[in-house]
Amino acid sequence: MSVIHEWSVAELSRQLRAKAVSSVEVVQHLLSRAQTHAALGSFLHLDSDGALMQAKAADAQRSAGESRPLLGVPIAHKDVFVTRDMPTTAGSKMLAGYQSPFTATVVQHLSDAGAVSLGKLNCDEFAMGSGNENSAYGAVKNPWDTRRVPGGSSGGSAAAVAARLVPAATGTDTGGSIRQPAAFCGITGIKPTYGLCSRYGMVAFASSLDQAGPMARTAEDCALLLSAMAGPDLDRDATSLDVPKRDFTLTLDQPRVGATADKPLKGLRVGLPKEFFGAGLSTDVNAAVQAALQQLTELGATLVDISLPRTALSIPVYYIIAPAEASSNLSRFDGVRYGHRAAHYSDLIDMYQKTRTEGFGDEVKRRILIGTYVLSHGYYDAYYLQAQKIRRLIANDFQAAFQQCDVIAGPVAPTVAWHLGDKANDPVANYLADIFTLSTSLAGLPGMSLPAGFGEGGMPVGLQLVGNYLKEDELLHTAHQFQQITSWHNAGPKEFVL
Ligand code: GLN
Repeated sequence: MSVIHEWSVAELSRQLRAKAVSSVEVVQHLLSRAQTHAALGSFLHLDSDGALMQAKAADAQRSAGESRPLLGVPIAHKDVFVTRDMPTTAGSKMLAGYQSPFTATVVQHLSDAGAVSLGKLNCDEFAMGSGNENSAYGAVKNPWDTRRVPGGSSGGSAAAVAARLVPAATGTDTGGSIRQPAAFCGITGIKPTYGLCSRYGMVAFASSLDQAGPMARTAEDCALLLSAMAGPDLDRDATSLDVPKRDFTLTLDQPRVGATADKPLKGLRVGLPKEFFGAGLSTDVNAAVQAALQQLTELGATLVDISLPRTALSIPVYYIIAPAEASSNLSRFDGVRYGHRAAHYSDLIDMYQKTRTEGFGDEVKRRILIGTYVLSHGYYDAYYLQAQKIRRLIANDFQAAFQQCDVIAGPVAPTVAWHLGDKANDPVANYLADIFTLSTSLAGLPGMSLPAGFGEGGMPVGLQLVGNYLKEDELLHTAHQFQQITSWHNAGPKEFVL
């Protein structure tokens, strides 16, 4: 039984199907692991009773002849997805004790596919952060080195998967929050094209950027989860894409036109933006990424030099647009309808002020201030409007690049995971660390992170792959082929494996 937590989603699915193990056994094993490793800080809520009930139901369905791939497979959710049966905090004091009257579409889709939800995972407050240190419920530790951050904002998701507490988890990515923690914790994650997964029931941060996606150990597992998560939700999310649901596992091994068995990536042009490999990229991360690129060529891919000239502008543009949207989205937390309300106040304005002062953490307040400022009369044209124009140019740069290549590759972050506390009081240092992920989000493109070796301190390094709109299949295929000849994705942090 001790190996259960080493099984990927695909392996678990096979074992469950073969009836070598029951969902109840798997769930019991993982619940006890989650309790043993509670000090990691990854779970905010462990739903033991609910999970066992779902597992029993899954086992019963299997006995009745059902065999959907995720039936009985345990997962956990980033705590920004609202859930009717579990509390939702979004990592904020503002939502302490909040219980949603409905369940997010993505969570519902996974549950409909038979997945068992173990609980809710820690994250930066309202998904604002790069190290998970902005959570009102304490920092999450990186299982590879518990003195370091797991990345953010989906830090609890990444740490839980890396520590083998769950085989897969949901995450959200507004400017890198699936890809960067995946890289920092040595797991695989994909942020789909904006609009592929419904935002209904995702606590809103920056609505034109927010996107849900899976985090797991392998590309195959991400494909399994994404197939359930994605799909149109036109009535409930106005930005949901009207593209039919598809099974992303079917294309993982599908040969490319002209490819051969030993060169499955033959014909694939991999673009390397020169702006992703310049000053600022640490030598250890660069070395691992270069070695991974060589492995892509061994699989038959060709490397092409490209340019994304406005990469540096993605930081100011994102840190204008995202706070602008956040300041509007977070105005709903006023003590009237949801969550926290100050205990003592004199009048309505005083109630708003005290509630928001008490309920929001420093980073959230900073973003509300910045967002309100850039949207205010007299500054709107200079900041917000200008940022929107540059956002369009950034998206155009990608389209120009995709004339020369099929996927874009590079590092996910300039360094490996930093030490807890190192950047906790330095917001700009956190913002700068997002340099390689923000532009993809601004353009609404799909991006993924996959384990590609180790750097300083023995910490994992991620390889980023970015595809054109709705090319998730190409990204997952490329990543899956890479994972057939590499074993970085199988490596786990010593203390948490076997
Ligand atoms: N680190 C970025 C931020 O703080 C991205 C966060 C995210 O993708 N949710 O905004």
